[in-house]
Amino acid sequence: MSKPPRAEIITIGTELLLGETVDTNTARLAQALCGIGLDLFYTSTVGDNAKRIAQAVRQSMDRSQAVITTGGLGPTIDDATREGIALALDIPTEFHADLWEEIQELFALYGRTPTENNRRQAFLPMGAKPIRNPVGTAPAFIVETASSCVIALPGVPGELIVILEESVLPYLRDRLDLRHVILTRTVRTAGMGESWVDDRIQDLERMSNPTIGLAAHAGRVDIRIAAKAEDEEKAESMIAPIVTTLRQRLGDVVYGTDEDSLEGVALGILSQRDLRLVVVESGTAGALGEALAPHAGPFAGSLTLQHDVPEEKIEEELNAAMERLHASVGLGLKLSEQGRQRLLVCRLVAPERSERLERFFGGPPDNAPRWAVSLALNLIRKRLSA
Ligand code: AMP
Ligand code: MG
Repeated sequence: MSKPPRAEIITIGTELLLGETVDTNTARLAQALCGIGLDLFYTSTVGDNAKRIAQAVRQSMDRSQAVITTGGLGPTIDDATREGIALALDIPTEFHADLWEEIQELFALYGRTPTENNRRQAFLPMGAKPIRNPVGTAPAFIVETASSCVIALPGVPGELIVILEESVLPYLRDRLDLRHVILTRTVRTAGMGESWVDDRIQDLERMSNPTIGLAAHAGRVDIRIAAKAEDEEKAESMIAPIVTTLRQRLGDVVYGTDEDSLEGVALGILSQRDLRLVVVESGTAGALGEALAPHAGPFAGSLTLQHDVPEEKIEEELNAAMERLHASVGLGLKLSEQGRQRLLVCRLVAPERSERLERFFGGPPDNAPRWAVSLALNLIRKRLSA
């Protein structure tokens, strides 16, 4: 059996290398490629320089059957993608009179006159097939070789997406004879760190289909399962047993899958039991109240106190707020600095039990509030589920 085809993405633009523009195109393209079951092993970013673009394109075409570039198709001198691709393939560029006409018509539509610069956009590498761009002036194009192809798309995310859906994905499916789908599922956990989770599923993480990987967020760890199969049903049947195994091994550390959020799950439990929650927090910049705000119903309200108020004060305010807002569950949070660490004191007041919990956080200080939110929500989930 021959190896399955693979794709690569090259994003082009000096602004990306300077960190001025965040590269969202790679993520968007990667998701789309995943959706048509096309493997992606490398992505790269290169500045607006024809020689370096040529180098990147050549390398990518050597090892992949489809190379998608974004950016550098504008009318100015620094838009070097056309030239870079021509250089990579050692071919000249040629003038497309019909493209030039289209560009002129588009300008006329907006009551403007194109400059000589805009004419540059009508030059494509020899043999390139233009791709219709219904939402912009930059003509996109495809150049094919015997073993690979390069697809040059505009950098503007809105244009990219339209051309991708309309032209590029159907083209790739057809050219590379793609008959696979990749289905993904995310199993969500809270309460244990990445290494704890990793320790229990290492054997699964070594599998190649489905692949299983971890993504750690403050106080939560997601486990992502991706299966490649002939159709969705088959992929689903590969994923389901893994989810069962994960639940068996990790127990109630798992709080949901895919679209489930810890906020939604914790408040769902309160809703089910007809309980109302109030929150008093200090040192978290109101992060818990903010996370709960979209979930009106069981969430009755929150109060943010100054940094470093005494714990007694939080308790006092919590009791008062519970009474005032007729809430039977209260959560008090105090996040404070303890040397290089952060200390979280979390107090849960509930009908059947009240408890005080202390936890240290040694990660990046900026992440501490979100970690505190995860910990507090997880406490509700674990203590109050019926
Ligand atoms: P260009 O096609 O290089 O003229 O890019 C046009 C605009 O698209 C730029 O000004 C950026 O705002 C945006 N852009 C280019 N590349 C990317 C990218 N990889 N991710 C997100 N936006 C981008
Ligand atoms: Mg650019």
